[in-house]
Amino acid sequence: MIEIISQDGIERWECAYKECKALCCEPPLITIGSIKRISDATGLKPEEFIHLSEDKPGLFRLKTREHDGKCRFLNNDYSCELHKIDKQPLFCRMLPFRFDGIAYGDEIILRLKAIEGCPGYGRGDSFDDNVKAEIEKWSARFVRELENYVRLKHEGLSFNKIFNKNWCQTER
Ligand code: SF4
Ligand code: SF4
Repeated sequence: MIEIISQDGIERWECAYKECKALCCEPPLITIGSIKRISDATGLKPEEFIHLSEDKPGLFRLKTREHDGKCRFLNNDYSCELHKIDKQPLFCRMLPFRFDGIAYGDEIILRLKAIEGCPGYGRGDSFDDNVKAEIEKWSARFVRELENYVRLKHEGLSFNKIFNKNWCQTER
């Protein structure tokens, strides 16, 4: 399930990453599926771009680039290396919202919130039902991958075994 808070008043949005110098590109939490997709596309091993210890159950933190603590896939011109190959992590597909928390219970609830200081609000295309449906789609994928990972971990599988399972590769 997804809960979006503080979305009222966002009627248009267009990413202005050069203007804000990629304000929201702090290293995101990513799912096993995103790790697999990035690894397959770039040839990088997981340990080269994520911290291998879980930051939250089923979620891993992308590493930072050394000079400023931003996400390691952020280029010097503030573009995203993964966006160019359509492999950005699921959280980065949920723009213009950012992660606000997860409640683990009978059902996993993913909370998203507006980005404070985002200069893209009020610009560009309408933030309409199609955009919201797209965010819902990525959020559902996120929760599904998270649940799968947590379940397999509870069954005793290691990170490497889960990483090499076929379900990680089925969706981009
Ligand atoms: S979503 Fe907003 S804060 Fe993030 S890079 Fe784009 S313009 Fe900047
Ligand atoms: S993966 Fe790309 S969009 Fe996501 S935080 Fe890193 S640089 Fe930004």
